[in-house]
Amino acid sequence: MSGPVVRGAPPAAAALAADIGGTWTRLRVGGSGAPLERLRSPSRLNHPGRSVAELREEMAGLLCRAAPPDARADLSFGAALDHLTGTVHGSAPLWGAESAPYDLHAELHRRRPDVTWNLVNDVTAALADFVAGHARPGTRRIGYLTISSGIALRIADMERHRIPVDDRGLQGEIGHLPAMVTGSVPERSGLPCACGAPDHLASIASGPGIARVAGRLGLDAGPELTTWLPGALAARDPGARRLLALCVEPVAHMLRTLWCLDPHLDVLGLGGGVVEGLGAHYADELRRQLRTATSYADRGRDAAWLADRLVFCGPGTVDALRGAERIGHWRPEFVQ
Ligand SMILES: [Zn+2]
Repeated sequence: MSGPVVRGAPPAAAALAADIGGTWTRLRVGGSGAPLERLRSPSRLNHPGRSVAELREEMAGLLCRAAPPDARADLSFGAALDHLTGTVHGSAPLWGAESAPYDLHAELHRRRPDVTWNLVNDVTAALADFVAGHARPGTRRIGYLTISSGIALRIADMERHRIPVDDRGLQGEIGHLPAMVTGSVPERSGLPCACGAPDHLASIASGPGIARVAGRLGLDAGPELTTWLPGALAARDPGARRLLALCVEPVAHMLRTLWCLDPHLDVLGLGGGVVEGLGAHYADELRRQLRTATSYADRGRDAAWLADRLVFCGPGTVDALRGAERIGHWRPEFVQ
């Protein structure tokens, strides 16, 4: 255990910020006004023939070369990550099926002990960026939900100014929870998740999940689904509308549960490729379902209530790199 990753140290003279994804790594040296550099990530996605050891070696080398002397380095990482230690638990786009934990923080510190390395997951970084633009006076808790190739949620506690994590340094990896659905819909049952298990939230409601349900409904548009679906929804195609309703439903149930357990969740941003790609179609369907009463405990939410709490983010409005730069003001931490 190499100690808390996000430290309260004063900012160093020079700064490195990086957003590391499966396809691209974006780097910025010198603060928010400095130019951005975009490189292809040393990842399994970009280099299927290379070993995990080689890819990790190249990643650590790239980051260590980019960091100025004595810099503070804020890194957003597209992987499940222990925020307490900086250990990466796995990332299919970066390292394929390799599941052995990798203590990236320790490796970076070993190579460049002069640098203060701060590692956060990219959804945590996105939350920090969302908070900067959308927290209001009196906001108690604020969240960011990304629905793209995977699904994850982060919530910040504004009153205590922290992002709580559990004893494994995790929070909100909801894509790999069992999907909450009502009724028996055979087309939506038994679908595999990217993690290998069936019937997870991401099995149905992520981008690949929507494609799986589309296949079951006989709407298999293949790679064209993402271009076909918005047009078909605009044309009120009944198959497309049923597809969207089936894939939004477990997200609506998850939000009902969230508000039931945390009535002080005042603002929730939604982003990621699915939400951004389907735009108003997605927002309208989710709000339509949430307006419906399901029980005395959930009497349905009216349009004004939903408009006050849900923020649908357009492409590029929430930036994990900018969030990584802002995360220094936050402390993902486990407090007993
Ligand atoms: Zn899963």
